[in-house]
Amino acid sequence: MNASDKSREAGVPRLLILGGTNEARDLAARLAARGGFAVSLSLAGRTRNPLPVEAPTRSGGFGGVEGLEAYLKTEGIDAVIDATHPFAATMSHNAAEAARRAGVPLIALLRPAWQRQPGDLWTQATDIAEAVEKLGPAPRRVLVALGRNEVRALEAAPQHAYLVRSIDPVDPPLALPQARYIEARGPFPEADEHALLKTHRIDALLSKNSGGEATYGKIKAARALGIEVIMVTRPPRPEVETVDSVDGVLDWLETLSRTS
Ligand code: NAP
Repeated sequence: MNASDKSREAGVPRLLILGGTNEARDLAARLAARGGFAVSLSLAGRTRNPLPVEAPTRSGGFGGVEGLEAYLKTEGIDAVIDATHPFAATMSHNAAEAARRAGVPLIALLRPAWQRQPGDLWTQATDIAEAVEKLGPAPRRVLVALGRNEVRALEAAPQHAYLVRSIDPVDPPLALPQARYIEARGPFPEADEHALLKTHRIDALLSKNSGGEATYGKIKAARALGIEVIMVTRPPRPEVETVDSVDGVLDWLETLSRTS
């Protein structure tokens, strides 16, 4: 008998966390410390060396809504926590629909978006292509904090000099005359971001409104230095019950346990 069979036999509630974020890892750690649930975490498998998580982990897509619905049923999942990144909208929509079809309760754990503060020079864009366009025709020196799968959009504006930061290498490199690469994983403290912006004489920052503290340092540094931020706003999300903290998920699970 494997571990999942045992937990099913013992009547232990089975939770699926859709991850790829610090929040998902924090939640897994809190649930491991608490006990009483059989937790598994799902990753898309994009990052080559994901950070360790305190939960059995599966990796790779489910095969759309149908695939996830089948997975929830086969694995006997009792509740889903969508702790994916605010920009992972396809997965969030699929999860909401698959959970609805399978009759499994779902909650989203979503960090609040960053709000414009006095001194911020933000230009909003609805997607990455628009953000690149909004850099304008004149050459600029741009720090790009996007996923390596998103940076191809920069090739539409080859007049700028880019400093591209990503966790894994951008491979193949971009077809751009002026692009430098940094491989790094956050958190990125404000002081380091300040130094990076100054050293590379950056005059524009291209960022998604990811929210959270780990990558907010660049936004604060840009504010302090008077640097424009082209900020990509979040994509629409499914209308599901949503909390913004790990505690919120734990409260929801308590309520679910009492009512089921
Ligand atoms: P996405 O566009 O919403 O999802 C595309 C497809 O990837 C989904 O349809 C699903 O494939 C698969 N997928 C996504 N998240 C998954 C998960 N947790 N477990 C299993 N399959 C998953 O997602 P994305 O924006 O490419 O993000 C991929 C992953 O990176 C997510 O886990 C997200 O939390 C993390 N992440 C994303 C960003 C970002 O800016 N987008 C930033 C940091 C981390 P199937 O349809 O085959 O099931």
